[in-house]
Amino acid sequence: MKILITGAAGFIGSHLSENLLNEGHQIVGFDNFDPFYDRAVKEHNLEKSLSNELFTLIEGDLNNSGDMKNLFSGQEYDVVIHLAAKAGVRPSIENPLDYTKVNVNGTQNLLEMMKSEGLKRLVFASSSSVYGNSKDVPYNEEMNVNNPISPYAATKVAAEVLCYTYWQLFGISVTCLRFFTVYGPRQRPEMAIAKFIRKAYNGESISVFGDGRSSRDFTYIDDIIQGVVSAVHKDLGYEIINLGESTTIELNSLIALIEKLTGKEVKKDYLEMQPGDVFTTYADISKAKKLLNYNPTTNMEEGISKYIQWLEKHST
Ligand code: NAD
Repeated sequence: MKILITGAAGFIGSHLSENLLNEGHQIVGFDNFDPFYDRAVKEHNLEKSLSNELFTLIEGDLNNSGDMKNLFSGQEYDVVIHLAAKAGVRPSIENPLDYTKVNVNGTQNLLEMMKSEGLKRLVFASSSSVYGNSKDVPYNEEMNVNNPISPYAATKVAAEVLCYTYWQLFGISVTCLRFFTVYGPRQRPEMAIAKFIRKAYNGESISVFGDGRSSRDFTYIDDIIQGVVSAVHKDLGYEIINLGESTTIELNSLIALIEKLTGKEVKKDYLEMQPGDVFTTYADISKAKKLLNYNPTTNMEEGISKYIQWLEKHST
């Protein structure tokens, strides 16, 4: 197949490219190297893909019409996987308009290009943040998502809804995958596990927002990739599907696990809960199991150990 991956230079996109290249697909990666984190990190993420002749990188912006025409004109992508976004909850409170511009307008620009080129299959990266501070756990796809508590989450809800409209009007099949906090090699540097481990090694203290009892359903990168690849291979019409591990860990236990696995004591500064941060996330993955044969297998201890091994290999 010929597959377009937007956000290909990022954490999840770079793993996905490698995985789909290994399956023998032709991949076009699109990315604007957004300065949210260091360009050099993203270039490093892409090294393996760029060494494969089935991979083409196109640098460009979802909101630049010339870049989008160049990306789509005359191209027959069998599947488009849309990962490009402004990610992160807290910065979306600082710069909400940027998030809307990229995550909502950018997604609609992509849908418009798909419509005009007659392309029919999209896999879209949504987020567990759409569930807001819902008290009903685990979260299932039937739940109300009208109460997001950050601009980032609101943009993901909006993009899912736009996808639905393009499915209804133009028959573009969209599988919206709600990722639950993803971690592992190449994780974005501002995310909790990457940051905590970096600070543990540097002897710096970490900020713990709240009393440490908030919890997350963390998903190991290989498990997420398994779910995304499975979605690439199935035309399901319009569907929303959670991808998580369906297990949770409290922040205090996560920090204790990091201390155990790094052998370092982590200094903690306890601070107020941050606006926009939800208290818990917890995925019901029965739909993913049923529709995608999704079967996540990596527990936290194993996943963090693999991350630490990768860090040790890649830090000079
Ligand atoms: P990432 O920031 O590493 O990757 C996103 C990529 O998109 C970056 O390389 C960036 O340069 C690119 N990009 C941003 N704006 C762009 C634009 N205007 N035009 C072209 N490219 C642009 O993030 P990630 O963690 O790999 O996340 C990938 C997707 O998954 C995002 O849509 C994110 O919202 C979603 N998601 C991630 C997580 C997670 O835990 N990592 C959880 C839920 C959802």
